[in-house]
Amino acid sequence: MAAALRAGKAFARGFSSRSVDGFVGAVGNTPLIRLTKLSEKTGCNIVGKAEFQNPGGSVKDRAALGVVEDAERRGLLKPGGTVVEGTAGNTGIGLAHVCRSKGYRCVIFMPNTQSQEKIDLLRMLGAEVYPVPAVAYENPANYNHQARDFAKNLPNAIWTDQFDNTANAQAHYVSTGPEIWEQTEGKVDAFICATGTGGTLAGTGRFLKEKSGGKTQIWLADPPGSVLHSYIESGGKLKDRSGSSITEGIGQGRITNNLGTFVDRLDGSLTIADEKSISMIYNLLDSEGLYIGASSALNVVAAVELAQKLGPGHTIATILCDGAYRYQSRLFSKKWLQAKGLESAIPEHLQKYAVL
Ligand code: PMP
Repeated sequence: MAAALRAGKAFARGFSSRSVDGFVGAVGNTPLIRLTKLSEKTGCNIVGKAEFQNPGGSVKDRAALGVVEDAERRGLLKPGGTVVEGTAGNTGIGLAHVCRSKGYRCVIFMPNTQSQEKIDLLRMLGAEVYPVPAVAYENPANYNHQARDFAKNLPNAIWTDQFDNTANAQAHYVSTGPEIWEQTEGKVDAFICATGTGGTLAGTGRFLKEKSGGKTQIWLADPPGSVLHSYIESGGKLKDRSGSSITEGIGQGRITNNLGTFVDRLDGSLTIADEKSISMIYNLLDSEGLYIGASSALNVVAAVELAQKLGPGHTIATILCDGAYRYQSRLFSKKWLQAKGLESAIPEHLQKYAVL
């Protein structure tokens, strides 16, 4: 991907500049969508990077390709090798695609709280999936430690270690950041998004900060149950984790190496309640025709709140991480919403979309 980016994109040989070579060539270069209604409402440009248009369906295709190609470059991954990862889903899906396209075996450990759609998809993509109990990072049975131990005992295998391997943030530094800069013609006043590994925020944020000479503000958006918002507000105190969120793939209990590369340079953070994220999923569907997952919706809520803080005339960029397809049995199920106490978060006139 980095090489493709330097070349201006890896065009498929003999075809026009709109064609690319294979899965790898199709990662990145996603559209930047101006959210028209929210932009009108706030007097700002609210723009979302359409990461659901990546060939594996999420922002994590970039990180998956980044960590695999980094391991190849460093000679850690050789033909016929095995890629092992602990992942809530999207990184695994990205890795499974990359492994199929490059001929590696893919083994995924994931917490057993994740949606069935993601597990099914991983298996359809040829990955071996081990759902394990969702226990804290400190516990040796945590899915990340299980992935590490599995790779350690296997010849020609790597643990891609998406949380602490900074090749993840680097993938965004060389692709997501430059793309947003180019697509806004350098007129991006702020960038805000939630984090899981921190790769997207740190890599994109570092590029935009450097390129703008410090002018672009970089903010973190946090779901309930994550410790990052209070860490930033308190000037660096880590509290114990409490509470939870329906948003999958984001929220964190520690400062990962990826986030650590940039956390000190963040301009601020916002915490966003699940009620607002759920409501935004339905709002974006109704008013923009966009079908996006909960972390994307949280990001858009945060971008709107940041626009209101900064005032009219600003351009605020965020990430539309993935589509709602992977979560629809939850997000569009009346029963599930009721069980989570979230049904009333959806405005009356939008409840017609909860058809499952
Ligand atoms: N949204 C979704 C749906 C994800 O799966 C992830 C990654 N777990 C993120 C957002 C966060 O991305 P990052 O790991 O780069 O912080």
